[in-house]
Amino acid sequence: MNRTGFVYHTDFVKHLTGSGHPERPERLISLMRHLSTVDIYSDLILLAPKPAGVEVIKSVHDGSYVERLQKACKSGLHYLDSDTVVCENSFAVAALAAGAGIEACRAVMDERLDNAFCAVRPPGHHAESSQAMGFCLFNNVAVAARWLQSEFRLKKICIIDWDVHHGNGTQSAFYDDPSVLYVSIHQSPLYPGTGSFDEVGRGEGRGATLNIPVSAGCQDADYLALFEKKVVPIVRDFQPDFLLVSAGFDAHKQDPLANMEISESGFAEMTEVLMRLANECCSGKLVSFLEGGYDLDGLNLSVEAHLKALVGN
Ligand SMILES: [Zn+2]
Repeated sequence: MNRTGFVYHTDFVKHLTGSGHPERPERLISLMRHLSTVDIYSDLILLAPKPAGVEVIKSVHDGSYVERLQKACKSGLHYLDSDTVVCENSFAVAALAAGAGIEACRAVMDERLDNAFCAVRPPGHHAESSQAMGFCLFNNVAVAARWLQSEFRLKKICIIDWDVHHGNGTQSAFYDDPSVLYVSIHQSPLYPGTGSFDEVGRGEGRGATLNIPVSAGCQDADYLALFEKKVVPIVRDFQPDFLLVSAGFDAHKQDPLANMEISESGFAEMTEVLMRLANECCSGKLVSFLEGGYDLDGLNLSVEAHLKALVGN
């Protein structure tokens, strides 16, 4: 059995998005209620994060954006763009979500944990260096990658993004950087419209971005075949020192925002593939981050399956 961390803070539900918004506090309220009723929860090592400092956030985001966001939150609940909402608490909660990844990565690097899942909101992978986007304020996974590089001098980080949407923010954070391999499998066409096959990185980063856009309607077997054929070889070849996962669960068959047919056991099998890769390359060091997942039942069951796979029993 692995020592699997579960990073959560009750303040994550204080990021309010108004009525009718799919990225709502109920996602985590319902998840925590569900997990409290299942056996796997008692096998997890619970960690509460501290907020990421502004300096750490600025390793990914422009200082002017950080200031602008802080100011915007002070004026209360409102839309920043057609999808992305902030409230008075959002800046602090977003810093806490970014801090969750740091807490998890630190515990794995210190060998207190083998792997971990961060049950965070707001999500992060659409957030660009100087722009909030697609429900995302700070790019949690990108901040964790930069922190691992600066704090522990890790040379190579791999980010696998199986959220059903392309992680445009994460891609652009590392687009010309050969030290971070970004791999995304996502529905296409779909929001945000980026992530085509021919987006492969730029300059020295050429080849360190792999996009696998797929049509609607894919089932578990389709995703797993693509993992074996495309994801496993490039990660094996890259030999990362740490594996980060943007684990959105909106490719689930019940999700209202996309049209994939992935089941919770599909997510468990994808987790197992990535754990095998992490075992081969970096002694199993793997931290995953909640991104999307908007059907509450689908999210509950998928996270439970993901956690069971991480614990490995
Ligand atoms: Zn998504």
